[in-house]
Amino acid sequence: MECSRCGEPAVLRQSYSGQHLCETHLYEDVESHVKSRIREDSLLEGEERWVVGLSGGKDSSVLLDVLARTFRDNPSVEIVALTLDEGIEGYRDEAVEASQQLTEQLEVRHEVVEFESEFGVRVDRDVEPAEGKPCSYCGVFRRTALNRHADRLGATKLLTGHNLDDVAQTALMNFLDGGVDRMSRHYRASLSPEDSGEFVRRAKPLRDVPEKEVAVYAEMKDLPVYLEECPNAEGATRGDVRDMLLEYERRHPGTRHSIVNAYEEIAEQLEWNETELVECERCGEPTSPEGDLCRACSMRQEVAD
Ligand code: SF4
Repeated sequence: MECSRCGEPAVLRQSYSGQHLCETHLYEDVESHVKSRIREDSLLEGEERWVVGLSGGKDSSVLLDVLARTFRDNPSVEIVALTLDEGIEGYRDEAVEASQQLTEQLEVRHEVVEFESEFGVRVDRDVEPAEGKPCSYCGVFRRTALNRHADRLGATKLLTGHNLDDVAQTALMNFLDGGVDRMSRHYRASLSPEDSGEFVRRAKPLRDVPEKEVAVYAEMKDLPVYLEECPNAEGATRGDVRDMLLEYERRHPGTRHSIVNAYEEIAEQLEWNETELVECERCGEPTSPEGDLCRACSMRQEVAD
């Protein structure tokens, strides 16, 4: 098959656009989606220090590759990669190694934060055996650590590597279980800290790029990425939603884009119940006034008991 734009051999077919793309035009396409999203979401507001959550997997690695090369000669944008090590032997240690290789190649400052030193917790040692629901604990620790260290690093934005499939899956999962509060929270996290109550404004510059295109980009560029899934991710509802969406997209190209567009419009219209935050008694981070401790400190205590 030939590239629809230049006639060179194609490496990918975009069913939603009806085009075939060669290696060069795939790179161009991914980069142009990221640049358009940066413009549309007005992420360039002056002197920027973007902290990029880098897991060592393909999505955040492709995002970092595009951003580092796009803004290499722009003195107004500084990029720092932040990797969390949850303490999952045989998975995260390999991913951290991949993230180190990539940041060295791209000459990007890289910070690694271990759950062990941050919370005194390793997911494989403390959370799995004690609770049987590692993701609900790990997710709260991840969010807290990302916010805390983005703040420490002086981030103007916290950028994550969510792709189109991730965002469409999250949207559909929130519809399916009626998670109206979560819809509203996701939308508000993309606003400024004054408007959202978050520490740092969040953004997903890769969210218009389908997962398959991200995977082909990473493979063609031979980026050092760790491709295995976290062993705890299996069996999650997200897997069912992913399969359902892929099948629907195969039969009705463009479904993921439509879901994400509808989701964002709805989330924007939702009312937000502002809650006044108080300081966590243990760590001082902002938390809802219902308990004395923030969720991360409560979970830390639960895991230790
Ligand atoms: Fe943590 Fe669950 Fe993600 Fe694994 S899949 S890193 S346990 S949140």
